Amino acid sequence: SASKPHETHRLDMEGALTARDRVGIQDFVLLDAHTSETAFLDNLKKRFSENLIYTYIGTLLVSVNPYKELDIYSKKQMDIYMGVNFFELPPHIFALADNAYHTMLAEANNHFILISGESGAGKTEASKKILQYYAVSCPSTTLLDNVRDRMLLSNPVLEAFGNSKTLKNDNSSRFGKYMDIQFDIQGDAVGGHILGYLLEKSRVVHQNHGERNFHIFYQLVKGGEEDLLHQLGLESNCQHYSYLVQGECANVASINDKNDWKTVRNALSVIDFDERDIQVSCCHTACGNSFCDDIHSIAYCLLGVNVQVLQEGLTSRKIEAKTDEVLSPFTVDHAIYARDALAKAIYGRTFTWLVNKINDSMENKDSSRKTVIGLLDIYGFEVFYVNSFEQFCINYCNEKLQQLFIQLTLKSEQEEYEAENIGWEPVQFFNNKIICDLVEEKHRGIISVLDEECLRPGEATDLTFLERLEEKLDSHPHFVTHKLADKKTRKTLERGNFRLLHYAGEVTYCVVGKGNHGVRPSGGVTLLLNVASQFKSSLLGLTDILMSKEPWYVRCLKSNESQQPGQFDDVLVRHQVKYLGLMEHLRVRRAGFAYRCRYDVFLQRYKPLCPATWPYWRGVAAEGVEVLVQHLGYLPDEYKMGRTKIFIRHPRTLFATEDAFEVC
Ligand code: ADP
Ligand code: MG
Repeated sequence: SASKPHETHRLDMEGALTARDRVGIQDFVLLDAHTSETAFLDNLKKRFSENLIYTYIGTLLVSVNPYKELDIYSKKQMDIYMGVNFFELPPHIFALADNAYHTMLAEANNHFILISGESGAGKTEASKKILQYYAVSCPSTTLLDNVRDRMLLSNPVLEAFGNSKTLKNDNSSRFGKYMDIQFDIQGDAVGGHILGYLLEKSRVVHQNHGERNFHIFYQLVKGGEEDLLHQLGLESNCQHYSYLVQGECANVASINDKNDWKTVRNALSVIDFDERDIQVSCCHTACGNSFCDDIHSIAYCLLGVNVQVLQEGLTSRKIEAKTDEVLSPFTVDHAIYARDALAKAIYGRTFTWLVNKINDSMENKDSSRKTVIGLLDIYGFEVFYVNSFEQFCINYCNEKLQQLFIQLTLKSEQEEYEAENIGWEPVQFFNNKIICDLVEEKHRGIISVLDEECLRPGEATDLTFLERLEEKLDSHPHFVTHKLADKKTRKTLERGNFRLLHYAGEVTYCVVGKGNHGVRPSGGVTLLLNVASQFKSSLLGLTDILMSKEPWYVRCLKSNESQQPGQFDDVLVRHQVKYLGLMEHLRVRRAGFAYRCRYDVFLQRYKPLCPATWPYWRGVAAEGVEVLVQHLGYLPDEYKMGRTKIFIRHPRTLFATEDAFEVC
């Protein structure tokens, strides 16, 4: 039977050698040349059932969420992976982190790790593991431990304020996060910087059934010290606050809010929040909480705001008459809208302020040269029963990242072939640029139309927005309204909605909605700051940041919808494999050549197979490899010698060599 390369040194969870055929192949590149999706899935599933949740496609890491604690993230495991060649050990998130780190040091350039996958697939956990690896494993001087602690402790704080229980994930990140970890030339982690993207503020005032508000609210109300609660005028019972119980799940089995509050409070103090800052952040949180119920405590909390002024502001509008100002009362709906808008704005600003404070505390003021590894943990593709503005932005973001992935993968693959002087054969696959354009193109993209509609005060409504979209985009193959729905997707669509055919699947967005439900961010008609436009420019900024760095990818897959340990839902995983483009990636990776390896590394491993190279080869590594493969009987068509690497066309050639290696 054909043995699998790189499997020989595999350690299983206990560190012992594991039977090879039980656990599949650890790099998809080495599966049979015409790998089908089914074979791909079989391999994933086989490994998953053995708790091997990681598999490579070349240097891309595929991770399948096990929904159970695995003993593979200890300090001991970190040490095993430190400085070891990528393929010498079983695939692991530490291996990827380590490889990015050593490449950064060797090449003195900047890198980023893009972690993608749908909600609940394990992105945030992966990013935490990577951060831990850098904070714990990289060389350290005691002076810097402070910065590392802060980097690590920024997590619980941001999660408290930015994560919540959703139907998909009990700890779902409701904001996108890009974090630069800065290293000095010795490789010490010396500083960090976070950029936050589009916090889902609407959650502050509205939650679907089975979902919660942001964790911090429950932590504070359930775990807050008596004094603190008293100062803030808060009750210690969630039922007291309508913003906290809309979803009817203030208590979640997998979450201990009381304990989490202790962790967060401790973390806050480590990252330089003094008592006053803690009070301010809690106070702003409390404001949101109390809005519906107790306007006095908000005014009190907002420190210095007069109750009457606030009350008037939230319930009426000033109209200037000839010589006088008259208060015109809002309708109840309008007043609720104003109240919610203020609660969201306060929370949004508190979050921004928190991120800034955290950045101050992680800042490295020393001006010496640094290189960075950026970690991008951004919301995955999302489809709910009702999809509103937030889902639209989130899914647009995923389109952009997919586009970046396509550009960078193709680009880097092409560049590698060029740099190594090897011929390149282009691979066909779906390019989602057409969908990115549909959303963001000037003058006719959805965001542009939204902008225009927001600039027509008094005239524009949700429905006119939809009509405009219809006028401009009805012929677009990825845009569907109820008019052409049957024709384009063989499914009907209600008026008031539009559907986008995303690269990952179809999503129906609700345009006409009250408050937080519509794709128009306000729901109602006001003179709006256009959030979508802002988001678009922040994404363009992010793309620029990423394009200037070397990419690494972690693709997270959700194993099942019910967050159950060890369950592998074939249909669900297959769908993700499809839309994450993993098969295409595999094809690109081995268009022409399935395997490549640096001459020195190849020679070092296989030199025992040839008398002329054993025990050492005294000349240039490339020549040693040539002698070695000649000796092994490689046919001229089976391999190519690049500038620094050998390229091998078929996995079977390497399998045979690896077999020979094992025997010797
Ligand atoms: P995402 O950020 O992609 O939405 P998370 O990283 O929050 O998803 O993961 C959701 C949940 O899945 C986590 O809270 C944890 O319970 C579980 N999980 C994710 N990754 C792992 C892992 N590597 N090992 C064990 N459990 C995991
Ligand atoms: Mg997350």
